[in-house]
Amino acid sequence: MLDIKDLTAGVEGKTILNGLSLTLPKGEVHAIMGPNGSGKSTLAYTLAGRDGYEVTGGSAALDGQDLLDMEPHERAAAGLYLGLQYPVEIPGVSNVNFLRTAVNAQRRARGEEEISAGDFLRAMRKEAEAFDLTMDHMKRGVNVGFSGGEKKRNEMIQMAMIEPKVAVLDETDSGLDIDALRVVANGINRLRSTDRSILIITHYQRLLDYVEPDRIHVLKTGRIATSGGPELAAELEREGYDAISAEAA
Ligand code: ADP
Ligand code: MG
Ligand code: MG
Repeated sequence: MLDIKDLTAGVEGKTILNGLSLTLPKGEVHAIMGPNGSGKSTLAYTLAGRDGYEVTGGSAALDGQDLLDMEPHERAAAGLYLGLQYPVEIPGVSNVNFLRTAVNAQRRARGEEEISAGDFLRAMRKEAEAFDLTMDHMKRGVNVGFSGGEKKRNEMIQMAMIEPKVAVLDETDSGLDIDALRVVANGINRLRSTDRSILIITHYQRLLDYVEPDRIHVLKTGRIATSGGPELAAELEREGYDAISAEAA
């Protein structure tokens, strides 16, 4: 579903991703773990096509479509969703309007009709409830005045409504207390499906106590240093990133 080969990319003339290769099959959940500064967010931004991130080599395809040739909105239309490490506030655009616009853009890209106002509101109400946000939250500007945990839960609501093929979640767990972490973990588990792939980027093992990934990859200095099964998370927690990647080398 997501096929990254030998990706080299950077920002402001500095190379950060150094020949990164990763295959995320349809329906699987993979985790990328790595020390601070290893390039985790750079990978997420490069896939999403954020301004300033320059690809100098390699390829990245979603469901066979070359992502790197597309504008950011085309990548989203192709089925890519990026959950941000630091969700932005968008004053003046309500969550309701933001979501309806995103859902309809997604539907148009799939050649489907726009969602009716009634169906949209029913679906949004259900997702807001599932992630412990109120209709009052949904009427406010996107993330405006939301606590850290509410912002992360709002990202889950967006992901549930937009129904991406590939979701990349950049440190969705950072800054969450244990209750919020459980809500987010349950959300990810609920959104697991045979036709959706999820890439969880995380610095800590904690989230992986609640969401068991099919594979774990360790990112170090811009490339995958080692990969393994879910047991790798506990090993990393015990022995640290240096020991694990030295062993692999
Ligand atoms: P991670 O998410 O794994 O903590 P990042 O992808 O944020 O790592 O950063 C990887 C490296 O790239 C770090 O050394 C960081 O300082 C550097 N970096 C990130 N953004 C920029 C930027 N805009 N300009 C220069 N260097 C950057
Ligand atoms: Mg970081
Ligand atoms: Mg980061």
